[in-house]
Amino acid sequence: WDSVRYLEPVATRMGFADVGGLDEVKREITRRIITPFLKPSLFQRFKRQSGGGILLYGPPGCGKTLLARATAGECGAKFYNVSITDVLDMYIGESERKLHEIFEQARRTAPSVIFFDEIEAIGGKRQHAREATSAKMVSQFLTELDGFAQNNQHVLVLGATNVPWAVDPAFRRPGRFDRVLFVPPPDAAARKVILGLLLDGRPVAADIDVDEIVRRTSGHSGADLRNLVDTAADEAIEASIASGRETEIAMRHVRDALAQIRPTTLEWLTSARNH
Ligand code: ATP
Repeated sequence: WDSVRYLEPVATRMGFADVGGLDEVKREITRRIITPFLKPSLFQRFKRQSGGGILLYGPPGCGKTLLARATAGECGAKFYNVSITDVLDMYIGESERKLHEIFEQARRTAPSVIFFDEIEAIGGKRQHAREATSAKMVSQFLTELDGFAQNNQHVLVLGATNVPWAVDPAFRRPGRFDRVLFVPPPDAAARKVILGLLLDGRPVAADIDVDEIVRRTSGHSGADLRNLVDTAADEAIEASIASGRETEIAMRHVRDALAQIRPTTLEWLTSARNH
C-alpha cells in the first residue's frame, strides 16, 4: 500500500480541451457537475438540488480517467485518483479505514474531485474471495457517499468501470451515482483531434496524412492511438540512429506502427452486446 499516492492529491491544469471528442459527455458533466460547482447560488435560487455522482463506463483507454482529471481542472479542484482494487488489497478492516481517510482528506483539501476506478470491484455480482470484506466495503462506501450528498458541495465524486453490468445496483440510487454516462470509442472526428493532440510538439514530416491514419484506426481507443504515435516515434528514433541524422515521424513509420498496434475496443463492444 502506497499511502502517499492516494492521500496526496494531484493539482491539475488539464481541462476539457485536452480531451479529444466526447462532446456529449463533456456537456453532461458540465451541466451536472461543473456549473453547480462553480455557481452554487444560481442553483439555490432556482431551488435545484445539485450533487450526486457520475459513473462513467465504456471500453478501456477511451478517456474516463482523463475526463475525471479534466473535470477537476475545470473546477480548479484537486484530483484524487483511487483504484478500488488497490484499496481492496489491504488487510481486513484496513480498506474501510483507508476509504474513510480518502474522503476525509478530500474534504480537508476541498475543492476536490475523487475518482474511483474499477467501481465494480466493490460488492456487485463479482465473486470476490473475501466477500465479507466486500459487503463491509459496500456499506462503508455508501455511507461516505450519502454523507457527502447531504453536506458537501465541494467534493465531487466520479466513478468509472469497464463492466457496468457488474456494478452493485445500490450504487445507482439517487444521490449516489445517479448519472451513468457512456464514454464511447472515439469516432473519426474525435480520432482526428486526439491524433492532433498526440502529434503536437513532435517532429512530423510533410507526408503525414492524418486523414489516412483516422481512416485506418476505426476501433482504436485513445490509448491505442497513443501507443500508435509512440511506436511511430520509436521507429523514427531508430531511423535517426541508424542513419546518423535527425529524421521526423513520417508516414512509413506510422504504417509500420499500424501493423503492430491493433484496435482494442471491438472486443469490449462485443462483450457489452452480450450483456
Ligand atoms: P481504463 O478503463 O483502462 O482505466 P480510461 O478510459 O480511464 O481507461 P484513460 O486512462 O483516460 O482511459 O486514457 C488512457 C490514455 O489514452 C490517456 O492518458 C490519453 O493519452 C489517451 N486518451 C484516451 N482517450 C483520449 C481522449 N478522448 N482524448 C485524448 N487522449 C485520450
